[in-house]
Amino acid sequence: MQFDRLYIGGEWVKPIDGGLRPSTDPSTGRPWGDVAYGGRADVDRAVAAAREAFAGPWRKMAPWERAALLRKFADLYATRVEALAQIESRDNGRAIRESRGDIGLHPQYWQWFASLADKLSGRTIPMDDSVHAFTSRVPVGVVGTITPWNVPLMAATWKLGPALAAGCTVVLKPAEQTPASSLALGEIFQEAGFPAGVVNIVPGDGATAGAHLVAHADVDKIAFTGEGATAKTILKTGADTLKRFSFELGGKAPHIIFADADVEQAVNAATGSAWALCGQSCALGSRVLVESPIYDRVVEAFRERAGRVRVGNPLDPATHMGPQAHAEQLAKTLDYIELGKAAGANLIAGGSRLAPSGMENGYFVEPTVFADVAPGMRIEQEEIFGPVAAIIPFDGEEEAIAIANGTRYGLTAGLWTGDVGRAHRVANRIDAGMVWVNTFRYIRWSTPYGGVKQSGWGRENGIEALDSYLETRTTVISTTGTFADPFAN
Ligand code: NAD
Repeated sequence: MQFDRLYIGGEWVKPIDGGLRPSTDPSTGRPWGDVAYGGRADVDRAVAAAREAFAGPWRKMAPWERAALLRKFADLYATRVEALAQIESRDNGRAIRESRGDIGLHPQYWQWFASLADKLSGRTIPMDDSVHAFTSRVPVGVVGTITPWNVPLMAATWKLGPALAAGCTVVLKPAEQTPASSLALGEIFQEAGFPAGVVNIVPGDGATAGAHLVAHADVDKIAFTGEGATAKTILKTGADTLKRFSFELGGKAPHIIFADADVEQAVNAATGSAWALCGQSCALGSRVLVESPIYDRVVEAFRERAGRVRVGNPLDPATHMGPQAHAEQLAKTLDYIELGKAAGANLIAGGSRLAPSGMENGYFVEPTVFADVAPGMRIEQEEIFGPVAAIIPFDGEEEAIAIANGTRYGLTAGLWTGDVGRAHRVANRIDAGMVWVNTFRYIRWSTPYGGVKQSGWGRENGIEALDSYLETRTTVISTTGTFADPFAN
């Protein structure tokens, strides 16, 4: 697979005002190949192709034909899982075992969205005999999708699946640091036989290609995953067009372990989810809240597990944790570790950059654990996006809920307890779009996912995923065809 072209209007084209740029392998810090990126003119071209496809073949296609194309895409995607996992792990450094696990589920996501494509219906509205009124669900139009570097294919799947099922056309702009796997999608769309222009893929910088897509008058909606600060900029950039927005933003999930929990299971989940994706996931339980009677036991378990994490070459199946995805993220994580130390948190494991043999310039960080973290410390409040767990002691439900809800985020949360009443009581009071009880990071195509507070707008996955790609149109038809003369008397 070559990555030196953009996918626009069903063809592989050279950038007009972009070019080629080396993409970095974060395990070595060196480029692994050149990847095409687009500028404003390329975005214009992609939006024009998407508009033409929306007005033409895609809009006219029967929903079951769209569903069939999506099913075909899902089948082809299933045959490419290993290749896509290799591309993504090389480009963003995620351990191959994780990429295989995540990307291996994507065909089921695509099948799920395919299954929804021909089930969009409105409702009949009870009226008097003079009119018949009904609603229809119609596609929003051309969607600009802007995705992050940590999970490029997952973010693309969660957006393009519902957008295409709803009948929208798409311009996908992946993150500049990790564009390769998203470009690889173009081949699959082409092979599945999607009409030209239904999907267009234009890697590019956020400040140029991204901002131009957001401001574009012919784009009807932006579906964004990334940082809250970027979302605020995007809102301002897109304000003049009053287009639609959906946002999947950051998180600082509380993972609450009560003393009556099965502590062994809770620790498995809590340690696994502290360091998954090298800490670079919005869903992770980066704040581990532990009830006092079991506090020392959990802290010790974290210290012990940190020593068992195999950090190294992301393409080695034995590796648990690869490098941070890029140099800025490495620097950010190391800065936060210094902030934690300076604030008086107790560093009990890790805390340093790592240089595995042969990968001395890679962006590796040790799995890191701070114990005795106090609510309000910056490492407790802010999204680090590195493999840094913050363990916070608490006493009782009220304190746990107060700490859990004490950040500006509200994406995911987890709690462990053996008391079913407590599970309901606490889950009901946590500010989060998704709460897991006695499990963590269980996410599927059918479970709506998204944030409250500053973690986002709208939901991805589930039937709800379609909502932000559809408008409701109400049609009222007279059954008599008469309309009184307003000036008759
Ligand atoms: P980011 O906001 O820096 O970049 C995301 C995307 O926005 C990139 O494609 C970038 O090019 C683009 N962008 C940047 N500036 C732009 C602008 N001015 N206009 C238009 N586009 C612009 O985020 P990131 O660092 O790539 O990703 C990490 C963040 O994503 C974290 O906060 C993480 O929690 C969040 N995230 C959330 C979810 C979720 O489902 N809620 C999933 C994954 C990641």
